[in-house]
Amino acid sequence: MLSEIAPGRYMIESQTDGRLLLNYLFTSSGQALLIDSGEAGTVEQSILPALATLDLAPERLTHIVITHPDVDHQGGAAQLAALAPDALIMCGFEDAPLVGDPDLMIQQRYRAYREHGIDYAPDQLAAIRAAAGEAIAVGGTLLGGETLQIGELTLRVHHGPGHSAGHLMIEDPRLGAWFMSDAVHGRFFSKLDGSPSLPPTYEDVDRYLATIAKLRAAAPRSLYSAHFRPLQGEAVEGFLDESVSFVEALDRFLLDRLSEGDLTLAELCDRAATHFGPYATPPWFLMFAVHGHLRRAGRAGVLTQRPGSGTVPQFTRSVC
Ligand SMILES: [Zn+2]
Repeated sequence: MLSEIAPGRYMIESQTDGRLLLNYLFTSSGQALLIDSGEAGTVEQSILPALATLDLAPERLTHIVITHPDVDHQGGAAQLAALAPDALIMCGFEDAPLVGDPDLMIQQRYRAYREHGIDYAPDQLAAIRAAAGEAIAVGGTLLGGETLQIGELTLRVHHGPGHSAGHLMIEDPRLGAWFMSDAVHGRFFSKLDGSPSLPPTYEDVDRYLATIAKLRAAAPRSLYSAHFRPLQGEAVEGFLDESVSFVEALDRFLLDRLSEGDLTLAELCDRAATHFGPYATPPWFLMFAVHGHLRRAGRAGVLTQRPGSGTVPQFTRSVC
């Protein structure tokens, strides 16, 4: 489904796993920039039909910005690269190795917590691998601060890390609109019916909070995401407030649980999912955020990690 946000700016709507998946297209004077490629399958499901509706041949795509390495954002990139061989595929500098290599992404991002006894089941891994598409050659990396000129449209690139190290956001200054992809997560990602699907999946707590602060300072009139319906006006501020509240509450919750005794990452995810959920996903989907909070607390010297009685590490609250 295609909708026009403003002249030359479009939202392309599809679904993944019962959730909304949104891509954005900017086109002007023979140039066309697409934000994210969806997962393998999204190209046929929604991107090609949207381009056809606009009478825009895929080979006329000139820029594809992959905001971060996740299957629902880079999985369709190889298909698009084949259809639009002249398009410049770009992503954030820190994310380039994982955006370019889906196998590396799965190993280093999705399976990062195996030493904690947390991993996807073989059938889940097969589904993730299928959605992740094929390897691509990233044509250029972005740091944030760049300007992209797409015909008459001027777009600014911003670094928005936290969910990933190189996560990108695109600002359309003329609209006062920011296209943040998955930079900020609220209290949960919702299913199409509004009920909780995934918990927040930020990884680096301090950088995530800095990204929220950057958005707050920019005070966008409109905030566009990959999985949330567009937010306008005061709803933007409310969403950012809610996102910070979740981070603060999870931080307190985890340190309180560790004050009661040593726990593993999986045990902390279980307790947090019971308290903050329920979510449609298993409790251990909180591994990204919970481990981020544990790393932050470790850096601050308020907890230590030590081998547990088995092979899975346990976390211990330091006595202050
Ligand atoms: Zn996503």
